[in-house]
Amino acid sequence: MMGHTHALSGAAAWLLVAPGLAALPMAGGIAGGLTPIVANVLSPAELIAGAIVCAGAAMLPDLDHPHATIAQTFGPATWMLSKAFNWASGGHRHATHSLLFAIAAGLGCHMLADHYPIGRDIVVILMIGLALRAVGIGIPGKTITSALVNIGLTAGTFVAFHSQGVGYLWLGLAVAIGSLAHVTGDCLTERGCPVLWPLKHRWVLPYRIGIKTGRAFEIKILGPVLSIVVIALFAARLMPESI
Ligand SMILES: [Zn+2]
Repeated sequence: MMGHTHALSGAAAWLLVAPGLAALPMAGGIAGGLTPIVANVLSPAELIAGAIVCAGAAMLPDLDHPHATIAQTFGPATWMLSKAFNWASGGHRHATHSLLFAIAAGLGCHMLADHYPIGRDIVVILMIGLALRAVGIGIPGKTITSALVNIGLTAGTFVAFHSQGVGYLWLGLAVAIGSLAHVTGDCLTERGCPVLWPLKHRWVLPYRIGIKTGRAFEIKILGPVLSIVVIALFAARLMPESI
């Protein structure tokens, strides 16, 4: 599945799920009394920030692919990170394309958000960068200019979030939802994913109906439909009185 399809699916998943989770009475009690995860998720700025972070998290599993365009998001920094992901996960579409990864990444980022502000900010910046790169904002390619422009755009977005008073108690949740959206998306492709990794079995659609990455269906139908869904969900969440 292509990068922008993943990113759009992550944003859509966040806009669909997050407001409902925030309304749950037990939202503050998940993970054994840790700081409330989604306490402020309903503020418009955090809904938007969450959608962008979740879109970036929906690219995270593909950091296991050092030759993919997102590995160049911040130039050598993300390329080296991608090399490490590739080595640690056993290659492309292995450990990072699983339920276990989504849960571990979510819990890990939740811990960072709760206790380590610098680590939290690094994760947020990485997610913004991946999201912008995936939807084609910034300069693609391998040059140092492209990395610098992407860093500048990401920094601007991060500062904008900060100026709007965005808190990140929901960071782990957004990373988990984004990673799950990625795994779900890749399960709809012809190659499938090892959802229950470390079990090796790949989950694929039956009768070879899986989507072929980058072909007409994804580009001409799925991408535009997802774009409309994301815009409609933003409208519905940010202007509820108009629906
Ligand atoms: Zn993937």
